[in-house]
Amino acid sequence: MRTLEADLLVLGAGVAGVYAALAAEAQGARVLLLSKDPLPSGSTPWAQGGVAFPLDEADLEAHLEDTLRAGRGLVEPEVARALLEEAPRHLERLLSWGLPFHPEPTREGGHSRARVRHLGGDQSGLLLLRGLLARLRSPVLEGYMAASLLLSGERVAGVLALGPGGPLLVRAGAVLLATGGLGRLFPVTTNPPGATGDGMALAFRAGAILRDLEFVQFHPTALPNGSLVSEACRGEGAILLNARGERFMPRYDPLGELAPRDVVARAVFWEGERTGGVYLDLRPIPHLEARFPTVVAAARALGYEPLKEPLPVAPAAHYAMGGVRTDPWGFTGVPGLYAAGEVASTGLHGANRLASNSLLEGLVMGERAALAALAHLAHPPGPRPLPALTLDPGLLPALRGWMGRAAGVVRRKETLAEALAFAQDLPLKEVPPEAAGREALEAGNLALLARLLLSMALLREESRGAHFREDFPEEAPEAYHLEAQGESLVKVPVGV
Ligand SMILES: Cc1cc2nc3c(=O)[nH]c(=O)nc-3n(C[C@H](O)[C@H](O)[C@H](O)COP(=O)(O)OP(=O)(O)OC[C@H]3O[C@@H](n4cnc5c(N)ncnc54)[C@H](O)[C@@H]3O)c2cc1C
Repeated sequence: MRTLEADLLVLGAGVAGVYAALAAEAQGARVLLLSKDPLPSGSTPWAQGGVAFPLDEADLEAHLEDTLRAGRGLVEPEVARALLEEAPRHLERLLSWGLPFHPEPTREGGHSRARVRHLGGDQSGLLLLRGLLARLRSPVLEGYMAASLLLSGERVAGVLALGPGGPLLVRAGAVLLATGGLGRLFPVTTNPPGATGDGMALAFRAGAILRDLEFVQFHPTALPNGSLVSEACRGEGAILLNARGERFMPRYDPLGELAPRDVVARAVFWEGERTGGVYLDLRPIPHLEARFPTVVAAARALGYEPLKEPLPVAPAAHYAMGGVRTDPWGFTGVPGLYAAGEVASTGLHGANRLASNSLLEGLVMGERAALAALAHLAHPPGPRPLPALTLDPGLLPALRGWMGRAAGVVRRKETLAEALAFAQDLPLKEVPPEAAGREALEAGNLALLARLLLSMALLREESRGAHFREDFPEEAPEAYHLEAQGESLVKVPVGV
């Protein structure tokens, strides 16, 4: 089999992966990146709103407070503070690299001040990623999917990947997962097709802890095909109307359209159920076409004219707050394995992510994880691939249907239990990774994550942040995390 070697192998070429690779290159390391889709890949190029950076010292405290408030008792304050303290250094660096951040910050839902920096109107993620890729010197193997991690004893020492040239072994001193989220587990999502939670499944099977998967943020305003209508639209004056033409958000929250995302998503869900639909009126936004070209084009592609009519919107799976548990330096606890970006659960987002904190996390944690990985490189002998987990991809529509019904914006015990029984009956197969195909591997990863997510959603008998249980509408007095490792799933009180 073809074999390559690297000091640091980065799985994924979104904001976290590319920024990590840039940090490692700057230290003189040999870096290799894999991206299962052609560049620009991942959720990063789809991000519209921007990157949240504290404006100054005083705002750092306010930004921290907003982050803690959104995360409902599950944000780790010292992690959040450390990331926010580092943020200005990264903004300065990006500006010095010529990235075209707009000088005027915008305000987004959950933020007490305008501190989100956008690029190119609503093309923030695309321009950010292009700017980073333009500086990258390390090779990116496009179209190569990590199918299985290589283990030598307890240590992760590379991957077996599948790509256009057939199977490929990459041996590495450390592996950094930057594979993004799991939105494709749901029938309606803003995420790109590759968001199948691969990194989470790979890490879990190598012994890492997956934490708080039940916390999935639903974007309140997606068009019927999952295209996102940026939160920034509401920040700049767009209003939500029910099917009777009534503005309803002020009835649900004093912040109105700028309430935290979970509040808006549930209000949109309930008003949709009650009145038969929900619409977003973009017409109050000045210079709508110049400010939100992507949104206007997406609406027109579906046959709507946003300058003349409100657009039909509904909640869509958007962001995974949970993921591979890491320490503040991206270490997963499995020797040789690091994680950064949406795949990871660092403690920044808690039960709900504050808008535009995720690209920031990708930057700060990308660099931190790369530096931590380089400080602990090792090349153990004889690494071998773990078997891969596969599922017939023809079963995915039914699984997604269950996820939509059971694990959407509003959840309850009976439906969660039925969905879990369905997921547990799925015929997952272990096969040699080189014998697997991409679709079967993705389906296997999604099925594994569905089981874990549904188990966690059932066990969490409370409503907190993005997780809302109709049968347990109150927040429990004591906050706890849920952690899965191997066969065990446990409640871990905050601070332990
Ligand atoms: C529509 C949309 C709008 C958003 N808007 C904002 C915003 O305005 N501000 C904000 O902060 N956040 C926003 N987010 C969230 C944010 O974009 C993501 O959380 C962030 O970009 C994730 O970056 P990442 O580097 O972790 O992963 P991604 O950018 O998702 O990259 C994942 C990479 O991993 C690769 N990959 C996956 N699996 C494998 C595998 N098995 N083998 C090899 N490669 C693999 C993919 O090809 C890709 O290169 C938005 C998300 C969406 C979907």
